[in-house]
Formats: sequence, structure tokens, C-alpha cells
Amino acid sequence: QCITHCPVGALRERDDTEQVWEAIEDPEKIVVAQVAPAVRTAWAEELGLTPDEAPVGKILDALKKMGADYVFDTTFSADLTIMEEANEFVQRFVTGEFKERPMFTSCCPGWLRFIKSQYPHLVKQLSTAKSPQQMFGAVMKTYFADKLGVAPEKIYTLSIMPCVAKKGEREMEMFYEEYAGHDIDAVLTTRELAKMIRSAHISPETLEDIESDRPMQEGTGAGVIFGATGGVMEAALRTAYYILKKENPPADAFKMVRSPGFQENHGVMEAELAIDDITVRIAVVSGLGNTRRLLDMIERGEVHYDFVEVMACPGGCVGGGGQPIHDGEEWAFDRGKKLYCLDENADLRFSHENPDINQLYAEYFGEPNSHKAHMLLHTDHLEAMAKTGIGYK
Ligand code: SF4
Repeated sequence: QCITHCPVGALRERDDTEQVWEAIEDPEKIVVAQVAPAVRTAWAEELGLTPDEAPVGKILDALKKMGADYVFDTTFSADLTIMEEANEFVQRFVTGEFKERPMFTSCCPGWLRFIKSQYPHLVKQLSTAKSPQQMFGAVMKTYFADKLGVAPEKIYTLSIMPCVAKKGEREMEMFYEEYAGHDIDAVLTTRELAKMIRSAHISPETLEDIESDRPMQEGTGAGVIFGATGGVMEAALRTAYYILKKENPPADAFKMVRSPGFQENHGVMEAELAIDDITVRIAVVSGLGNTRRLLDMIERGEVHYDFVEVMACPGGCVGGGGQPIHDGEEWAFDRGKKLYCLDENADLRFSHENPDINQLYAEYFGEPNSHKAHMLLHTDHLEAMAKTGIGYK
């Protein structure tokens, strides 16, 4: 955020809107866009709409009006990330293959950069699951390209994110059979999205609340809360419980990890959960100062957890560096409440009940953590570090 406030303009915010316009104008490219859950909570702040006037469907409509060929909601691939990560956690936890605890979440590139540079000896404890942004890109360039009957090279994947660090994450390489390249071709922040809408002279009042395209259309409440601190953990626990018990818990069974208690205990929310005779110790932290304190306590043996969610930005992605800025005010927790409200009112609240995710597994991946899923939806953090230091720029 300092970059946007540099008094002499010597530091400029990276702007990728030009390359996106070029891709839209290129007749050889099929532009396939995704919009992260946290963007819906904040884009209206830049365009003068009230939150009620700004559902995600209007962002999708704006993208189509600007020339995107297909538009999707990243909530779909947040559900996919939960399927992979919850299964990975249960597998590591139950089989005892999990000698070093805790397992850390891996969907925040700010956190990945931090652990790789500051605590490299803990990198092996990261989940190998890619983030929803990267998973969606991989699915668009394989499963969706197959559906369209085109080569992956024709697909230009664009993501709209609340996050500046996602621009670095997109440089993560993807290797799969005959295709090698990037999951994601361009990342725009919420602020860049608003800039594009303005420069296209689209009046926000004219936008319609349209649906995502098919076949990756559905997203559950569990996927939506990914954008707020505690959301990844809560969504993963809903599905991990189902994997262990073969039945759903009450949808709000794990709401103790939600953000209102964020300032307590040095920014760490922690809980001990009993699932029959299994006890799972979890913690949720956001903000890198809080994260450093937590990691140091873990290393000194003062606290013990099985599964830890870390988000670099205070409050999670709703407070991301690509969101609108309000000088001296922190809007992250109010935005987070909107996501929890959407979850409460969602028809589907469990990632494993997303019918489009289940169709994706039936038609393409087989099952979570299958060989194909590992090729496309997971990454090897240690190998990436060996090649490029922290894995990507
Ligand atoms: Fe990006 Fe911040 Fe979200 Fe991490 S918490 S993914 S750095 S917006």
C-alpha cells in the first residue's frame, strides 16, 4: 500500500490492465476469467455502489461486457482446494504419515514467501495443495480446454484478486504431459478491475447480476468464506469431518475459528475439536507479526497443533493489498462479515456437496489426491525452492 502513497510518484503500482486489453483484442486468444470471493466485498467501494447493489454476478457481467469470453467465480475452485486439502490433512493425520505437526495451509502467497524466506525448515509441513487461483487456471487449461476442443495455449487465464502477491504466485510453473506453462496468464487486483470498468465507460448501474458459465458454475458457502481469516480452516474442517464420519456436521459446528476474536491471544484463534475419539488441535492466524509469534511458540514447544491456517493480511484476503484503500481505516472485518452472511444464506455449505466439483472428479480427476490431481492441483514446495529460491518471484 506504500506504493500507492509514494509522495513523489517514484514507486508505481504494477498495472497489468494493458496486457489484459491486448489479450481481449487478440482473436487467437480465448479469455477465461475468474473472480476471487473477497473481491465481491470491496469492488463496490471503488465504484460508488452499495454492497447490496454489487453482487459478484455484476462483476462477471462487467468482464463479459469488456470482452472476456468465459467468466467464473473462484468460489468453485476454493471448493476444489478444500477437497484436496481436507483429504490431504485426513490422510496425513490418520495414517500417521504426519510425523511433524502441524500441517500449514498453502493458499496465501504472502505466507508462502514468508515461510520460505524466514522459516525454510518448516516448508515441508505446508500442504501441497495449490491455491484456488492456481487450481482454477490448471482446470481451465486442461478440463475446460478439452470441453471447448481447443489447445491449452489458446486459453488466456485472467484472475481478479484482492491481492498483489497473487501477481507473483502466477509465475509458478505448471508441467503436465505435453503442456508446460503457467496456470494463470494475468492477475488484476480489485483496484485494477475498477480502473478497467471506468476506462471501458461502463456505468455500474447498467450491470446485470449474471451467473457464471458452465460447467464450473456452482460454489458453496464453504468456498465463499475462503476470503476471510478462519474461512479456509472452517471449510476444510466441514469436509474433513465428513471424510472421517461419513456424515455432515452442523454447518456452523466450527464457527469458533471466525474472526471476531482475532485480537485475542496475539491474533491467534485456537481450538481443540473432538470428532469421536479423535482430537484435532487447530489454530488460525492472520498478519505476519502474529504469524511470527505463533511459529516461534510452536518451535519453542509452548503450543501444539495439528492444522494451522495462515493468512498474511490482517483479516485475510478481504483486507488484501489489492483492495480499495481507505486512509487510516481498516475495513477487512466488515467485509469478512459479508462473506459469512453469504455462507449462512447459501443453499450448499459443504464443498463436497458441490455438484460441479463432483462432476469434475467423476469426469476428469477420479478422486481427490489422485495421480492426475497431484499433477495439476498440487505443487512440490521443496523442489520449487531448490530451483528458484522461494518458488516464484
Ligand atoms: Fe493475498 Fe493477503 Fe489473501 Fe494472502 S491474505 S492471499 S497476501 S490477499
